[in-house]
Amino acid sequence: MSQPYDRIFNFSAGPCTLPVEVLEEARDGLMNWNGAGMSVMEMSHRGKAYMGIHQATEAALRELAGISDDYLVLFLQGGASMQNTLVPMNFLADGQVGDYVVSGAWGKKSLEAATLMGRGNKVWDGKATNYDTTPNLHELNYTAGAGYIHITSNETIQGVEFFEDPSLPAPVVCDMSSDILSRPFDVSKYAYIYAGAQKNMGPAGVTVAICRKDMLDRVPSGMQPMLDLKLQAENESMYNTPPCWSIYMCGLVYKWMLANGGLAGAQRRNTEKAGVIYEAIDGSGGFYKGHAAAHCRSIMNVTFTLPSDELTDLFVKEAAKEKMDGLKGHRSVGGCRASIYNAFPLEGCKVLADFMRDFAARNG
Ligand code: PMP
Repeated sequence: MSQPYDRIFNFSAGPCTLPVEVLEEARDGLMNWNGAGMSVMEMSHRGKAYMGIHQATEAALRELAGISDDYLVLFLQGGASMQNTLVPMNFLADGQVGDYVVSGAWGKKSLEAATLMGRGNKVWDGKATNYDTTPNLHELNYTAGAGYIHITSNETIQGVEFFEDPSLPAPVVCDMSSDILSRPFDVSKYAYIYAGAQKNMGPAGVTVAICRKDMLDRVPSGMQPMLDLKLQAENESMYNTPPCWSIYMCGLVYKWMLANGGLAGAQRRNTEKAGVIYEAIDGSGGFYKGHAAAHCRSIMNVTFTLPSDELTDLFVKEAAKEKMDGLKGHRSVGGCRASIYNAFPLEGCKVLADFMRDFAARNG
């Protein structure tokens, strides 16, 4: 069945597929949004129209994720990568360290940024098995007096995911870039959540942070203004010009999600989608091998290898002819990766699974 507008199935790890309905709504407002006589891209961020969009976007996210008044929502810039620097800078007292659980490539980068400041302490590292598993977070040895414990809920490259919202001995800071809003989560278990928007929420350019208010009491004085999360919060994410268009697009996605069963609906769809592909892996008699251990298989990034690099290349090439793009895995894992974020359709997963079975039958 052909896709609307002859679109292809985009399995890219990010930026990624957005809902067609959202793209259509954005298109319809491109010349004259809601009678404003211009697009959202062109509006003053201090004007009434954009301020309304900004507030509605935050309200929709709060409703979707059940975010209480104990938390602030921030729309920041610099990507999730900038957060790796901001988190230790803003939240650690003199001499204090942050504990880092390194379950994949992104957690490693977070640790590296904190280590550059002499503030990073590694409590677990999955490197020995090429990050194919996650630890039991309740069994690790954390530093007494650590400022926070940093985890990456979903490792986008390796496809390993934590499915619980942990209660740990220090405030939990979580990089949720690649699984935020993919299922219900308990915000109250976290002190600070951050996520680049470009996988599950909208286009690149905005990083969403959900910050427990008391965390801002930690921000040292004399911070550089743009790096000061307290200042960003006091200015309601408008200390400088925010990425208005990206925030607007996130708002459309939140609205779309609310109309489609909220986070419970997302979880149902995402679990089914991932299941279709994992079934093709497990049923292949060993032709495909899943990278992640069964208990932590990501429902966002399905990683698997084929018997050889030649077959992997052929697989990716043939899949592209069938309108499936972005399947090549990261070189550190090899093989393939199917990224199937919130807006990715179930049909695409079925098409891929059928293709996988056919490919294995022809090449096994
Ligand atoms: N963390 C995770 C889990 C990611 O997947 C990514 C991007 N792939 C990043 C951080 C970095 O995000 P950004 O490009 O927004 O800096």
